Amino acid sequence: MSQVATADLGGSKLSLALVTSGLVVPLHRSRSPQSVEQLVCELQKALRFADCDGVALAVAGITRNGREVIESPNLSQFNGVPLASLVEQSLGTPCVVVNDMVAAALAEGEYGELTSVKAGLVFTNSTGIGGSIFMRTRCERRTLACEPGHMVLWPGGPVCSCGRRGCVEAVCSGGAVRRELEAQFGGRIPAGMDPSQFLDEAAVRGEPWAIQKYSEIGWAMGLALANCLNLHSEIERIVLTGTFAMRGDSFLRTSTQRAIREHAMFVNHRSIAIEPSKLWPNGAHLGAAIAFYEGNKGSEGSHIPAIGSIETDYLCASSPP
Ligand SMILES: [Zn+2]
Repeated sequence: MSQVATADLGGSKLSLALVTSGLVVPLHRSRSPQSVEQLVCELQKALRFADCDGVALAVAGITRNGREVIESPNLSQFNGVPLASLVEQSLGTPCVVVNDMVAAALAEGEYGELTSVKAGLVFTNSTGIGGSIFMRTRCERRTLACEPGHMVLWPGGPVCSCGRRGCVEAVCSGGAVRRELEAQFGGRIPAGMDPSQFLDEAAVRGEPWAIQKYSEIGWAMGLALANCLNLHSEIERIVLTGTFAMRGDSFLRTSTQRAIREHAMFVNHRSIAIEPSKLWPNGAHLGAAIAFYEGNKGSEGSHIPAIGSIETDYLCASSPP
């Protein structure tokens, strides 16, 4: 039975799973590891009784050739790290490293909200903000990761995790909102409560400051989305993922749609469908497994990913199912 171990390595959380024939079995969740050794240790613990073809890591950062992390604003401990080689040496099993939004889009195209569209945009808002564009033609599908979180829409604005100022992520990511709420409310946030949950609960109670906060964040997200949509007229649908976007969707939606309506250049985008991902939080696992098997397809005796033939896996091409 084909089975791959997958890791969704985000800015604040690591989740491990086994993926078999499109089914995800969660194994473990913890805070993001601070080193390769810690990641390998978590993988070893989770996989000690599992029989796997290999390991696929979906990482919130720019990755290259299915092998290494070039840069990750929220996982800087892995910047420039040849993660696949190090995991292979430690675990003795093939490993593929893929951008998490490439993975999410592969999964949406195979199993989720993008199975029947020519082109779609996957957008995540969690600790950080990320995105990818999915395109399908008669003979291939392509997944192009992009960095909507690091569009500079407010030059001179707040410092971003990437070190620049005024990025979308610095203003409206879940991580930015958490930091802002901690600074604003400090001890009023109950011990152990995620500040985003504090915001959610205040919004549910109808407290004006929380409704206003969500409205401002939704507007900023809508600006980012409109700019992404302006790149490609054929995008038919937006798929939302990420803890902050999913939990806050009902409060964010109105202002997000208004910003898109006012700033999208293509008429067909002004009322574009925005669908919460039905695969979340498993989309990155499913997509990582797809990337793993497609990377190994036809390479008997080798685990060098086919996607290694291109410059970065920000552009991941593959045959249709
Ligand atoms: Zn940035």
